Amino acid sequence: MIAVENLHRHFGGFRAVDGASLRIQDKSITGLIGPNGAGKSTLFNVIAGVLPPTSGRVTMAGEDITGLPPHELFHKGVLRTFQIAHEFSSMTVRENLMVVPGAQAGETLWNAWFRRALIAQEEAALRKQADEVLEFLTIDHLAEEKAGNLSGGQKKLLELGRTMMVDARVVFLDEVGAGVNRTLLNTIGDAIIRLNKERGYTFCVIEHDMDFIGRLCDPVICMAEGKVLAEGTLDEIKANEQVIEAYLGT
Ligand code: ADP
Ligand code: MG
Repeated sequence: MIAVENLHRHFGGFRAVDGASLRIQDKSITGLIGPNGAGKSTLFNVIAGVLPPTSGRVTMAGEDITGLPPHELFHKGVLRTFQIAHEFSSMTVRENLMVVPGAQAGETLWNAWFRRALIAQEEAALRKQADEVLEFLTIDHLAEEKAGNLSGGQKKLLELGRTMMVDARVVFLDEVGAGVNRTLLNTIGDAIIRLNKERGYTFCVIEHDMDFIGRLCDPVICMAEGKVLAEGTLDEIKANEQVIEAYLGT
């Protein structure tokens, strides 16, 4: 689905991503691990069009998508989750979902004035879709809650929910488990597995929690110092000497 070829992203003289090559297979849940500072988030940001690469290539199903801006990738179904932005924290959880598809009829003045019926219809459909997403994620009881009041884990679920409002194909999750309690982390894991199995989403997941990675991810890719060190099952990765050395060295 996604191929990264000899990717570099330098900051001044510092090589945050230093010739990384990897493949994310269609319909896989690929794990990306590595010590802090390995370049994982930077790699995600380059793939997702948030940062331009210094050099190298990213393709999706053979098509060159290197450096495409996030909104173009969004239309291709490539999504990177972000923390719920400040301006969204005062909206309800349901509203946070309803704004994702964008380009709704109500957004042009003409439609707002003259086509009320159409807008109402569209809004009802979006509301229904949002409520289905909340039910899927087992947070339907939070629909009217302001997003800013959610716990860290609930916000992560909402981020995942936002990817379900559009036809996502590849979803990049950066440290989805950070600061999340075990119960909620399991719920997030269940949701990822269901989205993968039932909707055919491909995932690439950065996470430090090895139980989570072991339950969800195959294969697992390990990065260190901007490069890919190893790829395999989690057990293979854990037994890899270069990987052990990289973790010990930090
Ligand atoms: P990881 O996600 O694996 O912990 P990052 O991709 O966040 O690693 O960072 C890799 C390295 O690149 C780190 O040493 C970090 O300090 C550096 N880095 C990341 N973003 C920037 C930036 N915008 N400017 C300068 N250095 C950066
Ligand atoms: Mg990171």
